[in-house]
Amino acid sequence: MPTTLITNGTVVNADAAIRADVLVRDGRIVALGEPMDAGVADQVVDATGLLVLPGGVDAHTHLEYPVDGFSTHTADDFHTGTVSAACGGTTTVIDFVKKEPDRSLYDTYLRRRDVAAGKAVIDVGLHAIVPPRAAQPDVLDDLRRLVAEGATSWKFFMAYPGQMVADDELLDGFELARELDVLPMVHAENGHMVAREVRRLVERGRTAESFHLRAHGHDSEAEAVHRAVVLADTVGTPLYVVHVSSAAAADEISRARAAGSRVWGETCPQYLVVAYEDYADLGERAAAYVCSPPIRERANQAGLWRMLVTGALSTVATDHAGFCLHQPDDLPPQKMRSPGYFPKVPNGVPGVEDRLMVLWQAGVASGLIDPCRFVDLVATRPAKLFGLFPRKGTVAVGADADLVVWDPAADHVITAAGSHTRTDYNIYEGMRVTGRPVHVFSRGEHLVDGGGLRLDTPGRGTFLTRHLPYLG
Ligand code: MN
Ligand code: MN
Repeated sequence: MPTTLITNGTVVNADAAIRADVLVRDGRIVALGEPMDAGVADQVVDATGLLVLPGGVDAHTHLEYPVDGFSTHTADDFHTGTVSAACGGTTTVIDFVKKEPDRSLYDTYLRRRDVAAGKAVIDVGLHAIVPPRAAQPDVLDDLRRLVAEGATSWKFFMAYPGQMVADDELLDGFELARELDVLPMVHAENGHMVAREVRRLVERGRTAESFHLRAHGHDSEAEAVHRAVVLADTVGTPLYVVHVSSAAAADEISRARAAGSRVWGETCPQYLVVAYEDYADLGERAAAYVCSPPIRERANQAGLWRMLVTGALSTVATDHAGFCLHQPDDLPPQKMRSPGYFPKVPNGVPGVEDRLMVLWQAGVASGLIDPCRFVDLVATRPAKLFGLFPRKGTVAVGADADLVVWDPAADHVITAAGSHTRTDYNIYEGMRVTGRPVHVFSRGEHLVDGGGLRLDTPGRGTFLTRHLPYLG
């Protein structure tokens, strides 16, 4: 692999932005600092006027991911999904493994690990999803064994029939997580409240796609966040809340943190910049925006931004779960499998490629957060919480050379046509952004040049056996 020198750029880490040259050899950063002689490298990238960021770490994606009892799956596989990620400046994704019906959770994990490693162009890890006890009597034993395989974070669903776990299961699971120093994660919505609202809406014939929002109230999210924090505190474990969408739910995290709870909240770009008002009148095409928790009213956004700016929310991930609007021949039923009936619309929106650009535009270019905080939200903090730091999430000597050369002045318009996901629409369609990745390196390999894919080698990505969370 050629030695690469990135020269004349400003290196942005979570704690500081400094003018520094970066020398990359054998996939790692080997020198950082004073201007270096171009003769030390085989390849020189001139980053004059540009920023050098650690590659993005998206801790929440769903690639070739089964939903609704395995009746369908997301459109991107580990190849197209990671190509899309790389083109947007993300060099690590952490996806999920859900126990398959006829396989143990442990075996499902190993199988999915091999599938991911065989297709990915960037590095990939997996969180383990803890199934309801009824579905897996020996699940706790499997979880124990999975820690050694790198599953140092486990996700619990507090909603979705068939997936949601009861409070006693949360307590047992949280207790084991504390014993093993694993970070538990929760999808925090009260599944009973959601199911009841779905039933009531269906009874009244209110089944159009836009009614999805009404089934997922702020209260059901805030209640579940509050309960998860109390249960985690009861057994003494830290807690990570995925995809916080409601300002009221974020408030619960803010209060808990102020009271000393070790809880971290994640939000997603779709909750920060897209709103119910954007899809309320689209009829069946509103299916494109159906995800859970839902993309909420525009009035909710200010509170969510306040929580991000004040630090109550700690990471920005995507929950990338793309489904096509127009049914391709080679995929199981996608967004339009039951037009006019929201309960059957596969939940999820794409965004793994757009995350950095959207957050830079709406957060940094708008003046709400600075570039260091941006890096913390999209790379450093998730790398720390999910056992990848300092190999990932920082520009430092010894770290993997996962690097993004970012042009803060480049103008770009986000479109589905210009994106690499298999999903055939983009919820940010037409959004003008200033700031985009121009070069992306993964372990020193130059994957993206000038915004275009330069190297496409399925399987070059490695599976990340993650160590224990760093909560500092
Ligand atoms: Mn979820
Ligand atoms: Mn998700």
